[in-house]
Amino acid sequence: MSVSENIKAIQAKIRNTGRSVDLIAVSKQQPDIRIDEALSAGLRCFGENRVHEAQSRWSPRRPKYPDLKLHLIGSLQTNKADDAVALFDVIHTLDREKLVDVLSEEMAKQNRHLPCFIQVNTGAEDQKSGVAPEGLKALLAYARAAQIDVIGLMCIPPIDAPPGLHFAFLKTLADQHGLKNLSMGMSDDYETALMAGSTHIRVGSCLFGAR
Ligand SMILES: *Cc1c(COP(=O)(O)O)cnc(C)c1O
Repeated sequence: MSVSENIKAIQAKIRNTGRSVDLIAVSKQQPDIRIDEALSAGLRCFGENRVHEAQSRWSPRRPKYPDLKLHLIGSLQTNKADDAVALFDVIHTLDREKLVDVLSEEMAKQNRHLPCFIQVNTGAEDQKSGVAPEGLKALLAYARAAQIDVIGLMCIPPIDAPPGLHFAFLKTLADQHGLKNLSMGMSDDYETALMAGSTHIRVGSCLFGAR
């Protein structure tokens, strides 16, 4: 299947939900030819997990595609916050107060106020980033006090757990806090995520092919 056929298949699944869902094409580590095929097919919404890799891929393409929307989906180190704010349009991985501090300062400095998702570590995994579910309320209040526009929650379920439970849990948390957007669902579980109310699916390999 070609990239454009894969896009059509995923968009058909989205249409079946009857809701409006953003398809974020995760372009990390993909060859240029596949990226350009996605752009030719009309996709403008892309996800990257590393700031510097994203800069080298997207800075040269940006002038040609003014309606491009770049989503940072990987964890962000505070020393790269300046580059991240300059390049990206949405951040999915807000997960700690220190990052709120640095991002809010950078956004003010650059006058670029990016909408953000708070990443929640729904599986309480030691190695995974994301705020613990118990810490969400405080982090949300902290981010809002710092003028960050928090639009929703994001999670990556544990590899060995049924993703549907984590998606349902994230939706419950979002509802409790009056947040409308849910960044959940990757290649292996985006259909489950769509059924669970996802508003932003992050799909890489099943759109572009294996990395
Ligand atoms: C790489 C990545 C994806 C896409 O993964 P696929 O399995 O290739 O769809 C989605 N979300 C995050 C946070 C990622 O790092």
